[in-house]
Amino acid sequence: MSQAQPVIAIYPGSFDPLTRGHEDIARRTLRIADRLYVAVAYSPTQTKKSLFTVEERVEIIRDVFAGEPRVEPVAFRGLLVDFARERGARVVIRGLRAVSDFEYELQMAQMNRELWDEVETVFLAPELEYSFLSSSLVREVAGLGGDISRFVSAPVMARLEAKLGG
Ligand code: ADP
Repeated sequence: MSQAQPVIAIYPGSFDPLTRGHEDIARRTLRIADRLYVAVAYSPTQTKKSLFTVEERVEIIRDVFAGEPRVEPVAFRGLLVDFARERGARVVIRGLRAVSDFEYELQMAQMNRELWDEVETVFLAPELEYSFLSSSLVREVAGLGGDISRFVSAPVMARLEAKLGG
């Protein structure tokens, strides 16, 4: 890859909703990449019960990164590597919170490389205070009326309150 080529990264996930842990990973990515797609996946299996629609999640990400033109939220269907190739993104970003994330993440990285040998997966570790944080925990605690303002940004908080009638 020539020096002049911009590094375009893609950070895929469900982001239901975006947490400060996701934000931290996205901001760290901007230290090593020129542009970043935060890519919300339409889940074909819908194993997890979702709170926000994919469109709402994209809107939330747009609000949170409104001041950062290098971040572009997008929604995608189908294989990540197909979408990444379409967008010219050869770097896939994933966050690693704990060893428990590792096995699945490594499998996925290997599979993605089998599917497209030009893609590289880069794992980033979040700030320690976010290493226990997940969207599902945020949904659960918010649903039970707990204070999650430390774990999500203001635009996320506002939409959670509207959604949950708080
Ligand atoms: P998934 O739907 O695969 O569980 P998410 O949409 O929650 O993933 O998150 C997308 C990516 O962000 C994954 O790589 C996940 O490990 C990472 N991630 C989620 N929460 C955090 C966090 N608090 N700190 C660092 N990485 C995180």
